[in-house]
Amino acid sequence: MAAEHVLLPGQATLGVLGGGQLGRMFVQAAQSLGYRCVVLDPDADSPAGAVAHQHVCADYLDDAALQQLSQTCDAITTEFENVPAKALQQLAAHTWVAPAASCVSICQDRVAEKAHFVASGVACAPYAVLRQPNDVQQVPDALLPGILKTARMGYDGKGQRRVRDRAELAAAFAELGQVDCVLEQLLPLQLELSVLVARSRNGQTVCFPVQQNLHRDGILAVTEVPAPQVSAALQAQARESAVAIAQGMGYVGVLCVEFFVLGDGALVVNEMAPRPHNSGHYSMDACDIDQFEMQVRALTGLPLREPRLQSPVLMLNLLGDLWFDAQGQERTPDWAGVLALPGAQLHLYGKAQARPGRKMGHLNISAASAEATRASAQAAARLLGLPPLE
Ligand code: ATP
Ligand code: MG
Repeated sequence: MAAEHVLLPGQATLGVLGGGQLGRMFVQAAQSLGYRCVVLDPDADSPAGAVAHQHVCADYLDDAALQQLSQTCDAITTEFENVPAKALQQLAAHTWVAPAASCVSICQDRVAEKAHFVASGVACAPYAVLRQPNDVQQVPDALLPGILKTARMGYDGKGQRRVRDRAELAAAFAELGQVDCVLEQLLPLQLELSVLVARSRNGQTVCFPVQQNLHRDGILAVTEVPAPQVSAALQAQARESAVAIAQGMGYVGVLCVEFFVLGDGALVVNEMAPRPHNSGHYSMDACDIDQFEMQVRALTGLPLREPRLQSPVLMLNLLGDLWFDAQGQERTPDWAGVLALPGAQLHLYGKAQARPGRKMGHLNISAASAEATRASAQAAARLLGLPPLE
C-alpha cells in the first residue's frame, strides 16, 4: 500500500492474526470507526472471533486461510508476538501488514531484541546468551545471581528461572530443555514502568503517558497513570528511548516498551511487545484516544496524534483466581458492588472458563484526583478479594 493511501473509516476491512483479548479490543475499536474485521485464530471460541464480522478458524500457517485473509482484508495486523513471522511475510506479499514480520521477529526473540536495544543506544540488563550446556561455564560471574529466560515464547513470567549460582544455572538450563536462553543479571528493581509508542508509515511517532506497573508472580497486576513515583525527567527519558527503539526498526503500529527503574534511579529497558499491551488498557477509559484506536490509525494510515490523559487512572488486572473462593469453589465476583464505585469501568473478555492466572478482564478506575482514584481502587480490591494496594 502506498504511503499516501489511507484506508478510510467505513470503507475497509481489517484483519487480525490472533483471537485473544487484545484482538477483541482492537476489533471493537476498529468497528466503532466503521471498519469490518476478520480474525484468524485456530480456536473456535476465541474472544476476538466472537466479536469480529468474520472468524477464520484455522492454523496461522494454513495456506488457504492466509489466502482468504489476504483477499478479504485491506490491511492486517497481529495481536500477539508469537504469531509465526512466516505467516506475516506470506500475507505481506499481497496485503499491507503492520507491524512488519521483520519487527515482530525481533520482538519474538530475546537475543535479537536485546541486540536491538543495544543498537538503539538504550541500556538493558547485563546479559549473556546460552545456546549449549558448555556456555554455562562461560558466563561472567557478574551475571549471578540472575534470571535465565528462554529466548522465545516466554510470557507472564513463564520460561524463566531465578538462579543463584552456576550449579543452579546448569540445572535451570537443563530444565528449560537447553533451548536458546539469555541469562540476565538480577537487578535491584525500585519499580517498573512501560511506555506505548505509536509510529506511522511516514515515521511520525506519538507516545502515551508513562505507566507505572506492579507485577505479582510475574504477571501484571496493577497499572497507575500518571506514574506516581517517576520524575518528569525519567518519564521523558523512557519516552525518548521507546521512540528510538521504534524508529530503529522502522516499526509501524503501537509498540509497548517495558522498563525497570533501579535502586539508584537508572532506567533500564526490559522487553517490548509489538502490539497494544495489558499495561496500556488504562487508555481505554482515561485517554481521549486509546491504544487500540491508535493501532487502527497506524494500520490504516489515519493521522496519529498525541493522546491526552483526561484523568488519573488505575487499572486492576482481573485474573481467573478471582472466580474462586478460598475453598476453591467457583464464584462470580461482586460486579454489582464494584460497578457502584465512582469511576469504575469493567472490561471482560468473554472467556467462558476461568483458570488461575488467566486474564479474564480488567477494571479501570478513574477519578478527579490520584487520591480519589486510589480510594476507589482500594475499595474495588477489597470487594474482589485482591491484595490491598501499597
Ligand atoms: P510479559 O508477560 O511482560 O511478557 P515475561 O514473561 O516476558 O513477561 P519479563 O518481563 O522478562 O517476563 O519478566 C517478568 C518480571 O520479572 C518483570 O516484570 C520483573 O518483575 C521481573 N524481572 C525480569 N527480569 C528481571 C531482572 N533482570 N532483574 C530483576 N527482575 C526481573
Ligand atoms: Mg514483561
